[in-house]
Amino acid sequence: MELYSGHINKLIEELAALPGIGNKSAQRLAFHLINMPQDKVNRLANVIVEAKANVRYCKECFTLTDRDICPVCANTGRNHKMIMVVENTRDLAAYEKTGKYDGVYHVLHGAISPMLGIGPNDIRLKELIERLKGDVEEVIIATNSSLEGETTAMYISKLIKPTGVKVTRIASGVPVGGDLEYIDEVTLLRALDGRVEM
Ligand code: ZN
Repeated sequence: MELYSGHINKLIEELAALPGIGNKSAQRLAFHLINMPQDKVNRLANVIVEAKANVRYCKECFTLTDRDICPVCANTGRNHKMIMVVENTRDLAAYEKTGKYDGVYHVLHGAISPMLGIGPNDIRLKELIERLKGDVEEVIIATNSSLEGETTAMYISKLIKPTGVKVTRIASGVPVGGDLEYIDEVTLLRALDGRVEM
C-alpha cells in the first residue's frame, strides 16, 4: 500500500536525490512545498528553471556566471597574470568576499580522486594549461587541504613546473579536510599571504 499519493512520492524521491538531503528531510520539504501558496511554488519552480537556463561557465575561468565572461575576468583592473586555482565556485566566492585578492581565478569543478574514479581529465585542467600560454606569472593553488585537494595540487604543480611559470600553494593552517568556503576571511588571507613556492 502506498502511504502517500503518487505525486508526493515522486516529489520526495526527487528531493531525496539532492546532495545532503536524506529521506526524512525530503519528506519534510515535500509537505512544506505542498502547503505553500500556489504563487510561491510557481516562483520557486521558475527560479530553478531560469537559473538552469541562464547560468553558464565563464569562458576564461570556468566559474558559474550569467555572462560569457564573469565580472572578475572582465575587470581590467585585476591582475590577469596571477591565477588562483580553486576547486569550485563557492571557494572563489569565499576569496572574493575578503576583497583582498586582486588576481583572477581558475575553477576546476572538482579535485582528482582515484578513490572516486575522478581523474585529471574529469576536471578543468586542460583549460588551465591552455591559459598558461598567455602572459601568466604565478599560479596559486588553493585547492582544499583534503587528500583530494593535496593530490590535485601536486599533480598541477608537476604539470606546470616545466612551463617556467611560478607555482605556489596556499599555506596550511587551513584546517585539514576543511572546505574553503567555511573558513573565515582572516584564515583565508593568512593562507594566501603565507603561500610557498612548490
Ligand atoms: Zn571568469
